Amino acid sequence: MQEYDIVIENGTILTMDDDNTVIAEGCLGIRDDTILYVGENSNKSFQAQKIIDAQEGVILPGLINGHTHAAMSLFRGLADDRPLMDWLNNYIFPVEKKMDEEFVYIGALLACAEMIMNGTTTFCDMYLFEEETAKAAHSAEIRCLLGEVLYDFSSPNYGPIAKGFQYTESLIKKWREDPLVSIAVEPHSLFTCSPELLTTANEMAHTYDVPLIIHLAETLQEVQEIKEKYNKKPIEHLYSLGLLGPKLIADHCVHLDRDDIRMLSEYDVKVIHNPESNMKLASGIAPIPEMLAQGVTVGLGTDGCASNNNLDLFSEMDIAAKLHKVRCMDPTVMDAVTVLRMATIEGARALGFGHLTGSLEVGKKADIIVMDTHKPHLTPMYNPFSHIVYAAAGRDIEHVIINGKLVMKHRELLTIDLEDILVKAKEKSDLVRKWISC
Ligand SMILES: [Zn+2]
Repeated sequence: MQEYDIVIENGTILTMDDDNTVIAEGCLGIRDDTILYVGENSNKSFQAQKIIDAQEGVILPGLINGHTHAAMSLFRGLADDRPLMDWLNNYIFPVEKKMDEEFVYIGALLACAEMIMNGTTTFCDMYLFEEETAKAAHSAEIRCLLGEVLYDFSSPNYGPIAKGFQYTESLIKKWREDPLVSIAVEPHSLFTCSPELLTTANEMAHTYDVPLIIHLAETLQEVQEIKEKYNKKPIEHLYSLGLLGPKLIADHCVHLDRDDIRMLSEYDVKVIHNPESNMKLASGIAPIPEMLAQGVTVGLGTDGCASNNNLDLFSEMDIAAKLHKVRCMDPTVMDAVTVLRMATIEGARALGFGHLTGSLEVGKKADIIVMDTHKPHLTPMYNPFSHIVYAAAGRDIEHVIINGKLVMKHRELLTIDLEDILVKAKEKSDLVRKWISC
């Protein structure tokens, strides 16, 4: 008889393996941080410390949010309905100048609470004071890849850029052995980073064998600016600096032509698609079906809470599926399975975590969510992929396991004091109001 720490039984398992295998009456066995059994209920006799009854719901891999600015949860709704540059220069950058460690810690922990409650078990973050985001994720016990945002101007955290590289290096060294927190080198964008900064960032990423993450080709304004400065398109500019490669994660990639997509594919650059943010800031629509056709690995992200305004990948999946259908005037593009793969296994591969998470397979880390489908909007269920992408919401997630540990049980967070973080987030909003008014 097998012994497990946790068994999840009595649910439909979407494994998201290479064949998108579905197990109708499934059961999962977990020991320590690892999945040891995925199969049918009836085939298994076992002993378990803890049994979770999925109550005929859906069991699937935890979702992967490929692009966030977690602590921006404290800026949600602060300045909506503005163009990207006005929004950045007149609202976001000025308040960010006043932030400190504690502000980022509270904002990041608030974001972790929201993400876990919406079924996200891994996120990829770029922000200031990222040591605090790492601490928040570590304390919430959520998996993440994160890095300090690097740019040419002085940072409220580290000051001049040389210090930014030192800060990044110390993050890499400090968190190297952590089971949940991984570090990347993160230059902000082509329009805020000099060629020297980009080259140094790339060298550091190579030295430590960590990913390099950047916002890329997000707006037409960016494309024009890079053209004027360097007489190149953004992808050509990165190519000329030697930055294209399999460990480059490019957020957005909205304004690309056919040659750009071919280069992303050729160099195995990973792309994170953030449709809601691109829609809200009217940045444009990334040519995702074209990238997928060329074999580019594409994950899904929400971007920060100030440009979305939530961290719910269920609404992101719904929007991603529909946006491309209407752009292409073709309802067959971005089908539900493709979109759910972007939010799970393809997202994991984009972050370099494909061997760890993103699918429910023996030997992988146990990052698992259980959806309660005993609800009017999810009954009856002909096709679970369809329900997840087109009908479900984050609040339908009942249980969340990350790295083998139950972190949400019947929608109660077990690693975060939710009431405490809500009170602290409100206190921080009083500060933000003051900063905006001066
Ligand atoms: Zn972003």
